[in-house]
Parts: sequence; structure tokens; C-alpha cells
Amino acid sequence: PQLANQIAAGEVVERPASVVKELVENSLDAGATELLIDIEKGGCKKILIRDNGSGIARDELQLALCRHATSKISTLDDLEQIVSLGFRGEALASISSVSRLTLTSKPAHQDNAWQASAEGRDMQVEIKPAAHPVGTSIEVVDLFFNTPARRKFLRSDKTEFSHIDELVKRLALSRFDVSWTLVHNGQPVRQLRQATDTDQQQKRVAALCGKAFAQHASRVNVDYDGMSLHGWLVQPAACSEQAVQYCYVNGRMMRDKLLNHAIRQAYGHLLRPEQQPSFVLYLQLDPRQVDVNVHPAKHEVRFHQARLVHDFVVSALQNALSQLQA
Ligand code: ADP
Ligand code: MG
Repeated sequence: PQLANQIAAGEVVERPASVVKELVENSLDAGATELLIDIEKGGCKKILIRDNGSGIARDELQLALCRHATSKISTLDDLEQIVSLGFRGEALASISSVSRLTLTSKPAHQDNAWQASAEGRDMQVEIKPAAHPVGTSIEVVDLFFNTPARRKFLRSDKTEFSHIDELVKRLALSRFDVSWTLVHNGQPVRQLRQATDTDQQQKRVAALCGKAFAQHASRVNVDYDGMSLHGWLVQPAACSEQAVQYCYVNGRMMRDKLLNHAIRQAYGHLLRPEQQPSFVLYLQLDPRQVDVNVHPAKHEVRFHQARLVHDFVVSALQNALSQLQA
């Protein structure tokens, strides 16, 4: 199983930020409203994610860690040459196969917390009692310690951390109802309280996207025929800092050609060719109208009624921009 896990890890775990992404998504899936992301040395030394979610019961700890069956490939050396096998949601098993992973958890109904860690080539799982409030902590130490080929692709701690920070930014902009703490080498880097009203959300946007963006951005808030577009956008001349571009479809961050095209078209002549628009936008539509899994890693999306979505975004933004100018 170790081998199959490592193969899967090749797809899902590209760098420390991908570990953080998988773990945070698990925490959010578990209903967490408070997240601590504690990083050492860009995540190459340590990644600790603590949440206040539903927790994992003692007798499910083992299952959470080892899920993969054996694969056809039989040696670790083969493994390092394989890069493109499919991956299907076995994040914990994969991550624990390329790091020293410890899982500590306590569901509300359980009296005590328990800790599980997988060791050695055969990933024997050891389970022992621990102290932990309701929720889960996952600690990932020495990422890629046993896969030198992967380790070689890691950049400097600073670069790896900047990927993590960017990810946390993206996620924090998609979940205002969650409080986020990001720590690097013992220093708090971001502390974002839950933002329940528009005022607090505006503050979070300022903290994440810069004061200039927050000051000049105007709110977009349009509903039409089961679709909605809300968020903030800036008229280019008003904001000289680097462009802020975040676009979410049904809560997931996307980089989509159709949406980018619609946004540019809405700006029209307001945007000189060399200028980049700045926006934080949330498009909400019937989930049956969109396939988000076209390519999860690439954040692509397919709209069933592409024309309609495109035109809705264009007119919603044109509307907002015309109010800006008035
Ligand atoms: P997947 O998310 O695709 O189910 P993972 O390997 O990411 O696979 O997680 C395995 C399982 O471990 C999850 O299905 C979930 O039951 C449990 N789990 C992982 N992380 C957490 C967490 N932070 N809180 C509660 N349960 C978790
Ligand atoms: Mg998962």
C-alpha cells in the first residue's frame, strides 16, 4: 500500500501548498469554523493544521490514513519515474506516504482524543491516547523525506511559503465565515476573524487584497434568473497596485477563459490593452449548470449554458462600472 500511496501522492502532493490545500479542504468538509495553519520552513519542515471540526472517531483513524490497495508497480524506483497516474481523493494516505504524518482528533461524542501515526515502509498505524479539544490536528513533518526525486523540486522556504500564503488568501476570500490564523516559523502572518457583516468582510478584503483595492472597489451585487454575481471591482485608473484577480464559481476559486473574457469585455475601453482589471467576484448558479471537475487541478469549469453565463457577467459588471463612473 505504501507504494500505491506514493504514486497517488505524486499527483496530489506537488509541494507543501498542495498538502495545505488538501488538509484545509478536509477541515472545511468537517465543518470547521476556526483554522490554525502553522508552518515551518515553507512547509518543508512542518505543516500543522488544527481545526474545530467534527473530528474523527478512534476506530476510523486507521481507515482515514490507509486506504489504497497495492498497485501493479513493484518497486520504489519505478515509482519515481511515474508522474501522470490518476488520483482519486486519497489525500491523507498519499500525504502520509511521503512524510511523517500524525493525526490527532476528538469528536464531540468521544471522551478522549486519540492520535494515529503511520510508520515505516509498511505504514503500520500506531494509535495512542492524546490531549486535544474537539476537532482535528494533522501534523506533516519532513515532507518528501523518502522521495528524493520530489524533494529536488522544492524551491526555497520563502517561495514555498508564498505559495501557501497565496492559497490561504484564496481560501480566506471564499470563506468569510471561517476564522484563519497563518503562522510561519513561529510568527503570526495572517489573523483573520470571522467576518459576518459587510463591514467586516470589507476589512478582510482590505487585509488580503490591499488597502488601495478595498478603498477604490465598489460592490457588485446582481441577481438574474437563478444566477447571482457579487463581490468587488475596481476601475483600473483608480488602483495602481498590482492587479487583484479572484473569481469564484459556487464558492470554488476558478481561472476560467470564459469568465476572464466576460470581465474584460465588461470593462471595454475603460481598460487599456496593457492594463489588468482588479476584481474579487463570486458567481453563484445552479450546480447542475456547471461542471467544476473538468480539471480540478487547473481550476477549470464548464458551463452548460456558456453564452448565458457570459452575457450575464458582462451586463452585471457593465452595470456596476457605469455606476462607478457616474
Ligand atoms: P477524502 O477527503 O477524499 O475523503 P482524505 O484522504 O482527504 O479523503 O480524507 C480521508 C477521510 O479522513 C475523510 O473522508 C474524512 O472522513 C477524514 N478526515 C480527514 N481530515 C479530517 C478532518 N480535518 N476532520 C474530520 N475528518 C477528517
Ligand atoms: Mg480530502
